[in-house]
Amino acid sequence: MIVKLTEFFRNLPRKKCLECGNVMEEQHDCYGNTCDKCMKVTQL
Ligand SMILES: [Zn+2]
Repeated sequence: MIVKLTEFFRNLPRKKCLECGNVMEEQHDCYGNTCDKCMKVTQL
């Protein structure tokens, strides 16, 4: 079960920032679809 879940997430395409289009290397699902830079901009 756990192995299948791991493979599932590995097969997922890399997240791209919806704001600037940069590929986000870090996999933080809780961050949403924006990179750190755009997140900071949004928070300002
Ligand atoms: Zn961005």
